[in-house]
Amino acid sequence: MPNPSEQSSCLVLENFIGGKFVPCRTHIDSYDPSVGEVYCRVPDSGAPEVEAAVAAAKEAFPGWSARSPEQRAQVLNKLADLLDANVEEFAQAESRDQGKTVTFARTVDIPRSAYNFRFFASSLLHHTNDCSQMDHMGCLHYTIRCPVGVAGLISPWNLPLYLLTWKIAPAIAAGNTVVAKPSEMTSVTAWMMCKLMQQAGVPPGVVNIVFGTGPKAGDALVGHPDVPLVSFTGSTATAQYITERSAPYCKKLSLELGGKNPAIIFADADLDRCIETTVRSSFSNQGEICLCTSRIYVEGSIYSEFLERFVAAAKKWKTGAPSDPGNDNGALISKEHLEKVRSFVALAKSEGGTVHCGEGVDQLHLPERNAKGYFMPATVISGISDSSRVMQEEIFGPVTCVSSFHSEEEAVSKGNGVRYGLAATVWSRDVGKVHRMARKIQAGLVWTNCWLVRDLNLPFGGMKNSGVGREGGKDSYHFFTEVKTVTVKH
Ligand code: NAD
Repeated sequence: MPNPSEQSSCLVLENFIGGKFVPCRTHIDSYDPSVGEVYCRVPDSGAPEVEAAVAAAKEAFPGWSARSPEQRAQVLNKLADLLDANVEEFAQAESRDQGKTVTFARTVDIPRSAYNFRFFASSLLHHTNDCSQMDHMGCLHYTIRCPVGVAGLISPWNLPLYLLTWKIAPAIAAGNTVVAKPSEMTSVTAWMMCKLMQQAGVPPGVVNIVFGTGPKAGDALVGHPDVPLVSFTGSTATAQYITERSAPYCKKLSLELGGKNPAIIFADADLDRCIETTVRSSFSNQGEICLCTSRIYVEGSIYSEFLERFVAAAKKWKTGAPSDPGNDNGALISKEHLEKVRSFVALAKSEGGTVHCGEGVDQLHLPERNAKGYFMPATVISGISDSSRVMQEEIFGPVTCVSSFHSEEEAVSKGNGVRYGLAATVWSRDVGKVHRMARKIQAGLVWTNCWLVRDLNLPFGGMKNSGVGREGGKDSYHFFTEVKTVTVKH
């Protein structure tokens, strides 16, 4: 297994098509965000590469879909075992490619990628279909589910292998074959996983990975007439484009998109737990998780106490070299993204907001090697109007804004006052209040007195501009299969 973290020369990736590594004629530079230098070259694939991958996937489909669920599950479990056995190499590579800390990759990204395969291998074996009798008509109705065919899977850069496997695992477990396109900014662990595919006994053509940019490789995949289904995770703007692009083919779409997630904190909350968790929910993975908290609404009577304690806790959230186990955050994905995130802090200041800690307030002490990396400290802002772009738009960095509310109704109205609806956290010891809020908050996921606790059996996804459809357990099975209703008359 090559370990990109230890290679000094530039790593050159190849596409994985029909079970083989296939070189590409042109490449894109990929940066190590913690040092700001190119260290890898990613295939700049386009329509011809996608065409070859779709052809391989089509050829593999009859054989793979004819296997029993147990036979497919065996292959997925083997893949999970192989990922588990190589956690360290994958964690080092994910950190170097994305900028996140090795600790985060080792404890979250890679174990969860392995678990995605293990979970869907098992989940697949437990679905049942519907049956209904109509004796007066002499009929029995029942449903069957069949794999859709070649699935197009497109994933983003923030949790590279984690989100890619979240799609590949249910798609192939259900009997589809896939053509996947990871983000061009974070392709290395997907490429490493291709070697494991061979070892796990994934038949050639069942999983094809085509590397490249969205407008070239992604567009060719979305626009391919023989790809009837697209599962996309990424930004709302790209999803809007994909929806239009796939409309002429009436494709099945699952869209998991951005968020502007509120934390709503009532005066009766357990503040110790709430502050510890809300610091994590705001800043984990450099704030580059679609589920991260970016608007914190605190009940007026505890606002000052909360802000003081929250800022003190945020100041302890350490940012620096991703390999240092003492750091909570590493580097942001790119120079452009760092500048975008910083521009929101500048905008907040220009609108009269107060920056309590982080950007422009606290100095980062970085090792010399990381001096040109894309680092930004955990930043807390207050005093911004709800209509500000800072409070309305997804920042996707280590920045969170604190504001107050004075009634349950106001908390609901502020929480829902954005175009997104992905996740929310609600903090209160009053069970009735928690239930009322969960009903009224417009979000696909409402965590009360916790954050990011997931059961993969349950639906995951957002409403409003945060997505269309749900994935997870039964929902993934439904998305990656077509249901047919069969009626038998005797
Ligand atoms: P992005 O939309 O720029 O890119 C996502 C993927 O789409 C990449 O692989 C990219 O190459 C591809 N792409 C871009 N243009 C395309 C096109 N025209 N046709 C086909 N594919 C195209 O998003 P990003 O910047 O990589 O990721 C960050 C975004 O993802 C944030 O908005 C974040 O909230 C969101 N996200 C959502 C979830 C979720 O589960 N809801 C999870 C993680 C990230």
